[in-house]
Amino acid sequence: MLVPVDLHIHSCLSPCADDDMTPNNLVNMAALAGVKILAVTDHNSALNLPACKAVADSIGIALLPGIEATTREEVHILCYFPAVDEALAFGEALRGRLGDVENAPRLFGNQLILDEYDNAVGSEDRLLIQATSLSVDAMAAMCREHGGLPVPAHINRGSNGLLNALGFLPKTRFAAVEVSRALPLSVGLDGYHELHSSDAHRLEALTEPTQHLELVEATAAAAFDMLRRWYDERAIANK
Ligand SMILES: [Zn+2]
Ligand SMILES: [Zn+2]
Repeated sequence: MLVPVDLHIHSCLSPCADDDMTPNNLVNMAALAGVKILAVTDHNSALNLPACKAVADSIGIALLPGIEATTREEVHILCYFPAVDEALAFGEALRGRLGDVENAPRLFGNQLILDEYDNAVGSEDRLLIQATSLSVDAMAAMCREHGGLPVPAHINRGSNGLLNALGFLPKTRFAAVEVSRALPLSVGLDGYHELHSSDAHRLEALTEPTQHLELVEATAAAAFDMLRRWYDERAIANK
């Protein structure tokens, strides 16, 4: 079946996202827009995934756990996981590799951690939009070690896109590449499958599904299995 998805959405934990991107608001807005599988992918943290997963479960929409990780080259890599626990463990590992700049909410925005009722239960003090110490290769490897699958984000965007930062598509193995449809793409994708997502930081950006994937069912497991198949195909293709 063709399943409408949006696999790159930020919650209010990301300082650059609006404070009203709460678990209830964003999950319900995505559902209203017709999305059947969404991925919440905050910068370098998974701490709002438990609440988003609980909300998604309660309204019968699928949540694919993710994190948008920053490499030392300032490249954004989406890391998708089969379950929230793996994402949390990866987030914990990332936190130890983040730079030591503290968040200044008035400058960068709040980094709110909420529960499934949208109550604030804490905030992240370390600035989440700074680079980690990991290279693109090391990030992809650490993602795999935690059971995840790496997909470089908005590769054709000037800031934080892989192509601009590195100047080429590296040999690093990814499951797919995310392409910004609004921007020109000047290189071939070397056979990679493309993902198209909203990268929503505001509720108004959640107006329609960004892509339809051919899946056996509208579940996060089915979406993750497809990414894993794509990842495995790369190994065969590159032999
Ligand atoms: Zn990004
Ligand atoms: Zn993003």
